Amino acid sequence: MGEREQAFVQEAFESNWIAPIGPHVTAFEQEFCQTVGIGHAAALSSGTAALHLALRLAGVGPGDEVFCSSLTFIASASPIVYQGARPVFVDSDRRSWNMDPELLHQALAERARRGCLPKAVVLVHLYGQSADISPILAACNQYDIPLIEDAAEALGATYKGRAPGTFGRFGIYSFNGNKIITTSGGGMLVAEDPAGINEARFLATQARDPAPHYQHSEVGYNYRLSNVLAGIGRGQLQVLADRVEARRHNFAAYAAALGDRPGLTFMPEAEYGRSSRWLSCLTIDAEQFGCDREAVRLALEAHNIESRPVWKPLHLQPAFEGCEAIGGAVAEDLFRRGLCLPSGSSLTEEERGRVIDVIQHCGYA
Ligand SMILES: *Cc1c(COP(=O)(O)O)cnc(C)c1O
Repeated sequence: MGEREQAFVQEAFESNWIAPIGPHVTAFEQEFCQTVGIGHAAALSSGTAALHLALRLAGVGPGDEVFCSSLTFIASASPIVYQGARPVFVDSDRRSWNMDPELLHQALAERARRGCLPKAVVLVHLYGQSADISPILAACNQYDIPLIEDAAEALGATYKGRAPGTFGRFGIYSFNGNKIITTSGGGMLVAEDPAGINEARFLATQARDPAPHYQHSEVGYNYRLSNVLAGIGRGQLQVLADRVEARRHNFAAYAAALGDRPGLTFMPEAEYGRSSRWLSCLTIDAEQFGCDREAVRLALEAHNIESRPVWKPLHLQPAFEGCEAIGGAVAEDLFRRGLCLPSGSSLTEEERGRVIDVIQHCGYA
C-alpha cells in the first residue's frame, strides 16, 4: 500500500458508504480514465468479471468461437466458456511473447474464406508488455471483429505512447492482489463508447430496470466494486508510476547481473513501447547454461525463494482439451524454458542479491 489508501478507506467509513456504489467508485473510475487515457470505465469486482461483461456486450454467445492468446492465465479464456462459446488459441511471437499478428492475420483470412470468422478476439498483454496492437487491430477491423484487450498484467505499460487496453472495443484491467496495483480484488472495464460502459454497469448490478419495484427484463450479475475497495484503488493509482519504476528496476538489476551468462535470455522489450516489467522473466537454454529451467526453480526453492514457470499455454490445459490451437510451438517453448523471478515492488537489493546468487551458482558456474 501507498500513503493515501487508508485515508480514502477512512472516508468511506465516515460517510458510511459501505456498498458497491458510492463516491469512491465514481472517482476511481474517473481517475482511472485519466490515468490510461480513455473516455469511460466501470469499476468491477474482478478482471474476470470485466472480461465476461466485455464478451457479453460484444455479442458472444452459445456456439460462437473466440480467438484468444494461448500464453496466458486461464482467466483470459474462462469467460468465453461462461458465455457458452469456444476459445481458439493463437500462438505468440518471440519478439513480445504476445499474440503473433501475422499468424492472426493468416488465420482470419483463412476463416473468412471458410465463412466461419470468430465472434471476437481476446488479446492479452503479458507480464507488463503490450502486444503489437496496430496490426492486430487492423486485422480485426478488416473482418469487422471486435477486439477485446486483456490488459490485466499491463497497467502502467505503453504502446506507441498510449496505454494498452485503450485500443480495442473494450479493455480490461485487474486489481487482484498479485497485480502491479491492487484493491485486494477488483477490476476495470474501459471503452470509448459510453453506451457500452452504461450497459456494463446495468448488467453488473443485476440488470435492474428503472421501476420502483424490482423489475428485470434480463438476467445480470453482481459484479460491482465495493466503495471501500475503490478507496484503496484511488490511493493505489497515485503510486502506479512508482510501482512501474520499482518493477523495471528489479528487471534491470537481474538483467545486469545475469544477462551475460550463456543460455540465459531475458524477456525482450518490444521497440514499440515500454514494458512495466510486472514480472521479471527469462528463458533458460539448458545446453548453454548447464542445467534446465526446472533445476534453477528447484535451486531457488531450496533457498526458500519462490519462482514460477511461465504460464502454461491454454491449448495445453486439460480444461480446454479439444479446443483448436493456431500454432503453439512458441508458447510451448516459452513455457518449457521460461521462469518468472521474484518481482515484487518492495523487493530489496539484498533480496534480489540472494536470487541472483543462487542462479549464479547453477549450471556451468
Ligand atoms: C489476473 C489476470 C486476469 C484476471 O483478473 P482477476 O482480477 O484476478 O479476475 C485476467 N487475465 C490475466 C492475463 C491476468 O493475469
